Amino acid sequence: MKVIDLRSDTVTRPTPAMQAAMAAAVVGDDVWGDDPTVNRFQAMAAERTGKEAALFFPSGTQSNLAALMAHCDRGDEYIVGQMAHTYRWEGGGAAVLGSIQPQPIDNESDGTLPLAKIAAAVKPYGPGLGAHFARTRLLALENTWSGKVLPASYVAEATALARSKGLGTHLDGARAFNAAVASGQSIADICEHFDTVSICTSKGLGAPLGAVLVGTRELIDKAYRWRKMLGGGMRQSGYVAAASIYAFDRHVARLSEDHANAAALAAGLARIDEIKVLSQATNMVFLQIPEAHAKPLEGFMAARGMLMQGAYSARLVTHLDVSADDVDRFVATVGEYFAGAKA
Ligand SMILES: *Cc1c(COP(=O)(O)O)cnc(C)c1O
Repeated sequence: MKVIDLRSDTVTRPTPAMQAAMAAAVVGDDVWGDDPTVNRFQAMAAERTGKEAALFFPSGTQSNLAALMAHCDRGDEYIVGQMAHTYRWEGGGAAVLGSIQPQPIDNESDGTLPLAKIAAAVKPYGPGLGAHFARTRLLALENTWSGKVLPASYVAEATALARSKGLGTHLDGARAFNAAVASGQSIADICEHFDTVSICTSKGLGAPLGAVLVGTRELIDKAYRWRKMLGGGMRQSGYVAAASIYAFDRHVARLSEDHANAAALAAGLARIDEIKVLSQATNMVFLQIPEAHAKPLEGFMAARGMLMQGAYSARLVTHLDVSADDVDRFVATVGEYFAGAKA
């Protein structure tokens, strides 16, 4: 029985064609700069995103952290969303390993940080009063955020504000390609206003692992040293970079299928009385399931080979290994559960 796994878009397995590309990769020792496949992926990522340079990482967490450390020195501060991945879901790495103080700001429901709050969070620096504060150095945004594409006009304004205050700009673009495909912008458009952008290839793009940091030559050179220190200097990593090359070439346009499947999933689940669809954007659906049903529903689905997060505010994610038929089966099975619960 095929398992339908909607817990995350990180659960995809490499397709046979991706595996073949990986097996055929020509590799070398990347710590020596000798891996032609890693070099090719980095050149490709820089070119596609319109940046000067790129660096391959084992994970998005490490890529974000190396970027934050490239922008900020010890005792500096970065402005970030209260619900941003770099702040909330990366183990506090910026503070622990980077000695960088986060200055979180509440995200609006569309993922933006209000411009006035960004401006107010920038601390004075210099003799006198300025000696009291951590030095504000960076604005970090996230796109997509909870599946939502940040408005392009907002990104332009927020990054212009950051620059006017002397701050650098970083985008956690783990799902930047979903943002591009959903909004009809190019990936270069999505990355345009940022000094650095971290992109995951292990999410909707379907690679087994990998992330790439793109940006200015100067910042990528700094991140290169931090990557080594963080344990991300890899050897024959061309085998996995080959999966990322394959994903960039073959798995971008098809993200629109994931978005359509998520929309169908949301529409189907919205017809079930007990379920409230809180939001759907790109490949994510957020639900409210009555608390008493969350765990039993999760168990009922799992027994039928369908995996989901059933907690109070549940998130379902579509991806490469989920078809339109799978979505129909999933919705029908949720319906069966609630029909049985009523009987
Ligand atoms: C998954 C994710 C990351 C980090 O990726 P890992 O490869 O899991 O370390 C960063 N930011 C966002 C928004 C993510 O969803």
